Amino acid sequence: MVQQGQIDHLLQETGTVPPPPHVARQATLQDYEGAYARSMEDPEGFWEGVAQELEWFKPWDKVFQWDYPNFQWFLGAQCNITYNCLDRHLDTPTKNKAALIWLSETGEERVFTYGRLAQLVNRFANGLKSLGVGKGDRVVIYMPLTPEGAIAMLACARIGAIHSVVYAGFSIGSLRDRILDAQAKVLITGDAGYRRGNRVDLKGIADGAVKGLDFLEHVVVWRREDEKPPLGDKEVDFDTLLAEGGIECPAEVMEAEDPLYILYTSGTTGKPKGVQHVHGGYMVGTYYHFKNFWDVKDNDVFWCMSDIGWVVGHSYIVYAPLIAGATTVFREGAPDFPGPHIFYEVVEKYGVNVIFTAPTLVRMLMRFGDDLPGQYNLRSLRLLTCAGEPLNPEAQKWAYQHICGNGEWAYLVDNWWQTETGGPCLGTLANMMSKPGRVGKPLPGAELDIVDREGQPIEEPEKGGILVIKRPFPHFFRTVWGDPDRYAENWNTIPGVYFTGDVALRDADGYYMVVGRADDVLNVAGHRIGSAEVESALVSHPAVAEAAVIGKPDELRGESIKGFVTLRMGNDPSDRMVNDLQLHVRQELGPIAVPSEIEFTPTLPKTRSGKIMRRLLKANELGLDPGDITTLEE
Ligand code: AMP
Repeated sequence: MVQQGQIDHLLQETGTVPPPPHVARQATLQDYEGAYARSMEDPEGFWEGVAQELEWFKPWDKVFQWDYPNFQWFLGAQCNITYNCLDRHLDTPTKNKAALIWLSETGEERVFTYGRLAQLVNRFANGLKSLGVGKGDRVVIYMPLTPEGAIAMLACARIGAIHSVVYAGFSIGSLRDRILDAQAKVLITGDAGYRRGNRVDLKGIADGAVKGLDFLEHVVVWRREDEKPPLGDKEVDFDTLLAEGGIECPAEVMEAEDPLYILYTSGTTGKPKGVQHVHGGYMVGTYYHFKNFWDVKDNDVFWCMSDIGWVVGHSYIVYAPLIAGATTVFREGAPDFPGPHIFYEVVEKYGVNVIFTAPTLVRMLMRFGDDLPGQYNLRSLRLLTCAGEPLNPEAQKWAYQHICGNGEWAYLVDNWWQTETGGPCLGTLANMMSKPGRVGKPLPGAELDIVDREGQPIEEPEKGGILVIKRPFPHFFRTVWGDPDRYAENWNTIPGVYFTGDVALRDADGYYMVVGRADDVLNVAGHRIGSAEVESALVSHPAVAEAAVIGKPDELRGESIKGFVTLRMGNDPSDRMVNDLQLHVRQELGPIAVPSEIEFTPTLPKTRSGKIMRRLLKANELGLDPGDITTLEE
């Protein structure tokens, strides 16, 4: 944990990349400075303006109220997020536009127009009603990444039920914990999911998870496979509910502050917490950023490579693109299966214009080499956006060169956020200069700062500290489900601000760099070094595809650094390679940051959302209990 909020920043300036002129010219948000200033001087007026672009059943009496640490947006207003996702498009040409284009690992494609999607959501919503599900009831969704998963979410929201999506792949124990925590009335699951050609037995896991849970009234089963095993007690067929539910189901009238969903954070640290978002503010904020950060236009195709099990999937596969009337591609399975070409093939085939992905995907593509991208026409692409982990400059440069045609057609930008923030807070906009290694600037509405442990702002450029949020925006989470104290803790760790748990620094131009989690910070001989910086340096070596570093207790220096490295194809582990990498880090960052040990490994342990689990590497290395590893990707 950072004591004084001082982190030595060792990475040298890696230059800037200007936005390609055609990308900058058409950016929806042309005047970042003006919009940001307005959102700070008059946040209520700013967000009210965005809210007025959407449909409400009843307008608000008051825009914002803050009873620290609790707050509300759009008080007295009534709405339903699904009315904005679906109904508001049905009297416009958008009705017949593709809302969702779903792809399977085996190349199957299913397209849903807005009109068709609205019908299916209504049918399933009526089906849920027939099971006695209503406003405020909790429904756990344990579904593969399919249109049925999205329909289940929207149907819950339609009738005012609170969904809690659990990533399809979590174990019996974690699914059970989440069902218990939410005291769910219904579980919606599928028979199977598919990943890397393997069948994941979702139903088997669900069966194990619900054993003896008497409060759970029904399990709805989507049976996609030819063989349809008989339904047990409490079990209901998904397709029957869909077929028997009528095509009309008016959206339930919700208070703006009524909960929309609970989502448990990825659990990279400690016990997962049920982050709670609401109908009103969440639709306003996620929509704003979809239009202004992702810059998606009416005739664009957007590809979000996340999963409905994560916040990115909630905000940017399901809710915000539908509110904006966009066309979204999403794909079940692994991004490199049946091969890494599939990424390029999807971009070419669907003429994808804007992608939302993660650095881990970029590094994966980089690992497979420079030849593949050249074999596809990627010119439809305009924006490649990344979030989830630090985007190391080397991966950024590679993707800019090979996927974005060196700026000839596309721009590559980073953005930072968390499950708790519902949408991005930091980012590089389509018309903003990007700085490899830096996320970008605070986005409109996000009042951020970097402070020390006492909450004192760190004004000095390039000096690290804790990244904090000073004021909640509409799409910020309202509480932790069933644990308001845990929510309050985030606002009391450093009194007066929200503690993000991340360490960041800011340069003289106001660009932020998110160095890593506060607990990922290493302390070597009194120098605090972000693990992400050393990893970045390692990955900038041409032989390295991915790297993770941990701190090991060291009598002399406090901590010594150990690096775990995955090499790019065509490179072999050797003592010489270890020496080369150590020399390289020494050159990049200086002697203090050189890993004293380097271990080569074919893969790194990651959470299912793609974050490297340094905690697990550290526990293995030191022979400690790894703690909660339910989020580990198998
Ligand atoms: P989650 O709530 O699971 O989405 O994880 C949020 C965490 O991911 C943040 O607190 C950061 O530690 C990390 N993160 C997200 N986006 C970025 C980014 N662009 N750069 C660096 N770290 C990021």
